[in-house]
Amino acid sequence: MKNMSLGWSVCPRLLPLRRCLLQCRHVSSESAARTAAVDQVLSVFRSICGEDGVSLGEAVREQHGKDESVHKCRPPDAVVFPRCVEEVSALAKVCHKHKLPIIPFGTGTGLEGGVGAVKGGVCFSLRNMDQILDLHPEDFDVTVEPGVTRKALNAYLRDTGLWFPVDPGADASLCGMAATSASGTNAVRYGTMRENVMNLEVVLSDGAIIHTAGRGRRPRKTSAGYNLTNLFVGSEGTLGIITKTTLRLYGIPEAMVSAVCSFPSVQAAVDSTVQILQAGVPIARIEFLDDVMIDACNRFSSLSYPVTPTLFLEFHGSERSLEEQVATAEEITQSNEGSDFQWARDTETRNRLWKARHDAWYAAQALRPGCKAYSTDVCVPLSQLPQIIVETKEDLTENRLTGPIAGHVGDGNFHCLMVVDPSDPDELHRVHLFTERLARRALAMDGTCTGEHGVGLGKRALLCEEVGPLTIQVMQGLKDTLDPNNLMNPGKILLQGGL
Ligand SMILES: Cc1cc2nc3c(=O)[nH]c(=O)nc-3n(C[C@H](O)[C@H](O)[C@H](O)COP(=O)(O)OP(=O)(O)OC[C@H]3O[C@@H](n4cnc5c(N)ncnc54)[C@H](O)[C@@H]3O)c2cc1C
Repeated sequence: MKNMSLGWSVCPRLLPLRRCLLQCRHVSSESAARTAAVDQVLSVFRSICGEDGVSLGEAVREQHGKDESVHKCRPPDAVVFPRCVEEVSALAKVCHKHKLPIIPFGTGTGLEGGVGAVKGGVCFSLRNMDQILDLHPEDFDVTVEPGVTRKALNAYLRDTGLWFPVDPGADASLCGMAATSASGTNAVRYGTMRENVMNLEVVLSDGAIIHTAGRGRRPRKTSAGYNLTNLFVGSEGTLGIITKTTLRLYGIPEAMVSAVCSFPSVQAAVDSTVQILQAGVPIARIEFLDDVMIDACNRFSSLSYPVTPTLFLEFHGSERSLEEQVATAEEITQSNEGSDFQWARDTETRNRLWKARHDAWYAAQALRPGCKAYSTDVCVPLSQLPQIIVETKEDLTENRLTGPIAGHVGDGNFHCLMVVDPSDPDELHRVHLFTERLARRALAMDGTCTGEHGVGLGKRALLCEEVGPLTIQVMQGLKDTLDPNNLMNPGKILLQGGL
């Protein structure tokens, strides 16, 4: 066989190499064209968002090409820092005209490689848009720009008696949280971003500005038309740039109390969780830590809880309702051989307890200095939790892997915080195979390959297995309609058009 373009004969065994070489050539000509396009538009970018609003510096590009995951850094060709929606729209129009990919960037705390510029392009860093715009305390809602983080919002709300409860472990941007459909320890009572986003302002890839529920609308419920708000929640920057989100707020409960309870087995801890929920206790937080995780938290946060499967619980309500909730929960945990509750009643002790839980990622990492943490998450129906956790722990032991388990167990969602030596290819390979087995185990139990971290780069094939080819086709159709040139964060969520 004669290869005309390369001018050599290729035996069939070398065909994959040939394909690879051709692909490399294609990629490098694509990237040269992109670099030329970026050079061409820089002055227009600067005229839109100012000299300081555009960066080509290597350090800035690298900082924006990576999140907190183990996915390798994929720097964009340029980073822009728009200050308002009009600038986002104008910049998007320029990118659209020159066919430059657009990658939205919140705070970069994502765990699935979502911000990597796998096809180069322009990163839209939204940190300069940090205004809290419309607070309606009497209606329990607020609208924020994409640079506002969850902690900044709660600090702002402190004197109003209101709060926003969705709490991923990191201080992420609220629009980034909408983009990944994030949740956290409070989801069992207050829901995830899906239940708490009421409206979104979105800039599409051609620069058009839309409001998913209609401009300025914020009814508590609606049955008007397709639910575009929830189409964009969890879209991971692949459909548009979220420039405002309207969120539900909640009254700060009159009283709160936290407790820690140790169990002889995973089964006993999870059975307690299910029975507490079945008993109708409106538990605010119920978090599972396996023996390895509680040991790591003890060491990292100077705690001294028994090293056995453990639940961290929190109850919210009036003083009287707390008494009832606690009594029912205690009765249930004791019937499952749980220990007496260890209380955290005052704010300082409660905060210390939950800080220790939120620091689980760093606690896991500290188990093996010099190693990197890699968190993977799955979610299954509650009844399947004991089985999947037990099987997963066996898998970890058989494959000589360190992976403490922490879970938002009231939602059937848990994380393995893999601690891995990045310089050991064999270990990296074993971790990769383990995470795929874990996701497939969750799928086999009618669950999902990700409860809250998203698909990003790492779980695209698993998404296909989860929803099936016809549903993927519908997703691809939606993507093609909203972003016909595949400019919005290409290569994420859907395999087609990705690397
Ligand atoms: C220690 C630690 C603990 C964590 N715990 C949790 C947890 O308990 N629960 C949980 O859900 N997550 C958790 N996370 C993951 C992470 O915090 C969430 O995924 C968060 O929602 C990401 O927000 P971000 O602003 O950092 O987004 P980024 O990392 O900047 O971006 C994530 C994705 O969203 C897109 N995106 C960002 N902003 C926008 C926007 N304005 N418009 C459109 N697309 C956008 C990006 O393109 C990317 O695809 C944790 C992370 C860490 C490091």
